[in-house]
Amino acid sequence: MPAPDEALQQALADYEHHLRTCRQCHADAVPCAVAKHLLRLYNNARRGGARR
Ligand SMILES: [Zn+2]
Repeated sequence: MPAPDEALQQALADYEHHLRTCRQCHADAVPCAVAKHLLRLYNNARRGGARR
């Protein structure tokens, strides 16, 4: 398992990359299901990495 910070940054990078490349997220103001999933992973990583 990678370090919490690394997982967090990777999750954010995945999410931002999706927003950039997904046409549905671009066209609609509402994020698609994949974006929601990635955002959830990011929030989980943030919560998990918050405590030290
Ligand atoms: Zn999307």
